[in-house]
Amino acid sequence: MTTAPGAAEATAEQAERWEPVIGLEVHVELSTRTKMFCGCATDFGGAPNTRTCPVCLGQPGSLPVANAGAVEYGIRLGLALGCRIAPDSRFHRKNYFYPDMPKNYQISQYDVPLCVGGGLEVVTGAGRRHVGITRVHMEEDTGKSSHVGSGGRIHGADHSLVDYNRAGIPLLEVVSEPDLRSAEEARAYLTELRAIVRTLGISDAKLEEGSMRCDANVSLRPVGHTVFGTRVEIKNMNSLRSLGRAILYEVVRQRGLLDAGEPVVQETRHWDEDAGRTSPLRRKEEITDYRYFPDPDLVPVMPAPEWVERLRADLPEMPGVTRSRLTEGLGLPAEQAHTLVHAGLAGLLQDAAAAGSGPAEAANWLTNEVLTWCAEHGVDPADAPLTGAALAELVGLVADGTLSARLGRSVLVDALDGRGTPGRIVAARGLRQISDSDRLAAAVDEAIAANPEAAARVREGNPKAVGPLVGAVMRATGGQANPRVVNELLRSRLAAPG
Ligand code: ADP
Ligand code: MG
Ligand code: ZN
Repeated sequence: MTTAPGAAEATAEQAERWEPVIGLEVHVELSTRTKMFCGCATDFGGAPNTRTCPVCLGQPGSLPVANAGAVEYGIRLGLALGCRIAPDSRFHRKNYFYPDMPKNYQISQYDVPLCVGGGLEVVTGAGRRHVGITRVHMEEDTGKSSHVGSGGRIHGADHSLVDYNRAGIPLLEVVSEPDLRSAEEARAYLTELRAIVRTLGISDAKLEEGSMRCDANVSLRPVGHTVFGTRVEIKNMNSLRSLGRAILYEVVRQRGLLDAGEPVVQETRHWDEDAGRTSPLRRKEEITDYRYFPDPDLVPVMPAPEWVERLRADLPEMPGVTRSRLTEGLGLPAEQAHTLVHAGLAGLLQDAAAAGSGPAEAANWLTNEVLTWCAEHGVDPADAPLTGAALAELVGLVADGTLSARLGRSVLVDALDGRGTPGRIVAARGLRQISDSDRLAAAVDEAIAANPEAAARVREGNPKAVGPLVGAVMRATGGQANPRVVNELLRSRLAAPG
């Protein structure tokens, strides 16, 4: 069944008989300097298989040692999510065979994870919802295979290559309770979790680059029932948009089955972004028995309670708190505060306000021009190449009339393009807005002379006809004329005789 995303959305949201039940499993790649169980560097982009050692290659006789930094990151995330930190958690071996995993087992956690319980709040058009966190556990990443020939897929490939640079990089897996009820809530949950992770500075959490990955478990149940239906796990969503589309597709697919009286099969399905649909990957009966057992080479993780309390005391401000500071403290509308916090721009806004900018003005430049520029340049807004001081300077130049709003936009783009601070750009481009009526008089007269028909219509009492005249003055002054002064001059020159 292929359904256009728009149609799927409409029908999925209108569904009355079935209620979607969704739980997410999110992997976060930690930005520690070294890997989870060895001293290899985690830097991205080295030549294949150069960041490896006997431990992460699983050579006989090598011994893993847990990275204390990764444990600290895991505890900090657990604390931020309100989890209980296990006083004594264990590493297990999850056994399976796949070429990207050199040891033939992955070190993970099983029955005693690092963090349990907790939750976070999501807000959507449907209101506020508390989403429980089942657990946060530590594990290690696998290597990366590339299949040569056949368009990158394993089937029909000439040969496959494996790069173990990623093998052993620390991951946190965050498992939610099946508390989400729509694609929109799932997106809001992932957005909020990403904001928390970034606020903690434990990962760059980029879905597109794979440093944050999300699997979605989706089932339906009749509205009003408490028992859950059979779930399907969907993999391979590489953006918030894909996550939303995949869930909507799956809700519509399952509803079709259930309405036709057919069962939903418990299975893992693969999301195909281009085709816009999910397809079966493996069925429950094919799901591997991982034969988990405690890793005999690793000691239990027993964080000292004083250490945990110190980490708790040192937690940064969480996004929810930042949002209320932007709304209640700085007077921004809730929607805009939300956008800024999730784009990672709250810090920039606060820096601009601290540098003397009006918060509303700075927020508008950020949510309009800066976000647009970032989208056009494929830059994560959190990495926007702008300082709070530069933004405040721009706001000041517009507020004091040096720049029109239009010139302000152009200067901001130049600043983002790396051409210097707004003040320097204005000086270098000779951009000061001209508000002096004596300097504009000649251009206004020329505009009137060159557009006699428009001028006549204004004289006859049609104020809208002034547009082309203002446009002519703006062109003649390279956009630097102050439109307000130009309007005033034109009106006084063209006032109806009388
Ligand atoms: P597994 O390893 O088999 O995927 P986990 O317990 O790690 O199992 O993850 C299960 C995920 O599926 C959790 O996020 C949970 O909330 C979710 N889940 C469990 N049951 C359902 C259900 N009936 N419908 C939707 N999601 C579910
Ligand atoms: Mg799962
Ligand atoms: Zn190594």
